[in-house]
Amino acid sequence: MANGRFAPSPTGVLHIGNLRTALVAWLFARSAGGRFLIRMEDLDPVTSSRDKAAKQLTDLTAIGLDWDGDVVFQSERFDLYEHALGRLTEHGLTYQCFCTRREIAEAVSAPHGSNSVGRYPGTCRHLSPDEVATRIRSGMRYALRLRSANTSISFVDRIAGSQEGLPDDIVLKRNDGMPAYNLAVVVDDEIQGVEEVVRADDLLSPTPSQMALGNLLGYRRQSYAHISLAIGPTGQRLAKRDGAVTLDDLRAMGRSSSDVLGILASSLGVASDRELVTPELLLARFDPEKLPRGPWVVPPNIRGSGS
Ligand code: GLU
Repeated sequence: MANGRFAPSPTGVLHIGNLRTALVAWLFARSAGGRFLIRMEDLDPVTSSRDKAAKQLTDLTAIGLDWDGDVVFQSERFDLYEHALGRLTEHGLTYQCFCTRREIAEAVSAPHGSNSVGRYPGTCRHLSPDEVATRIRSGMRYALRLRSANTSISFVDRIAGSQEGLPDDIVLKRNDGMPAYNLAVVVDDEIQGVEEVVRADDLLSPTPSQMALGNLLGYRRQSYAHISLAIGPTGQRLAKRDGAVTLDDLRAMGRSSSDVLGILASSLGVASDRELVTPELLLARFDPEKLPRGPWVVPPNIRGSGS
């Protein structure tokens, strides 16, 4: 038994790549006899909305996916994130970071800067209490970062295989006071009893940092399965300009919701092309070992002409 979840950000309509990830997450959880939970990652009030969340749920239901219990909204759980942050701070595991995005980018690209692209270069990690106090007094805004250990983390991803990475000093609280994704995701997966995290492989790189954070908080360790992304014709991330990417787009092209389930199933190697399938049938056939390892290039016949 392994409880799983799908955790979309309700910032737009789910595209076919998101629906594919949802299907894979559902198959993992249900085939293991676990609960399948939905969590709306709506931390950003500007880009997220309840209407978008409702539409995402409608589309998930339309392709035949179901879930257990109430849908959880991160925007209603700030106290949980604050509590975890308080515990970390009490143990000296956070620090104030005054860097702007531009400063971080410049430090990382400097000739002698950090050579690990995308990692925080550590600029504010060793500020003295006086330096911190002076900056705060002068009105500078700050984020809170994790003081992570310099020890690499290894795990075996159930799709992507052996992984190893050095945890980063991830942002836990943004400089606008909002909890950061990396904190919320770790806290929620623990509190919701998620045992297996199944998601798209663009989130493989922050996984060691998330695991390190979970360890520091004394949380149980999850297993992970990162499925490759759906990509457009030139290998780019799928976007609206690539054409028929949402369920509604595909319906407008004459494809029913069950046709779309069939397309997703065939992209995952659990159905043949144009086969009529049901979620139950896919469940009976599902074998995580046989999932494709590479990205799925969305076929031209469902790409449409874009809009
Ligand atoms: N909310 C994230 C997204 O939509 C997914 C986070 C996760 O599954 O951990 O990409």
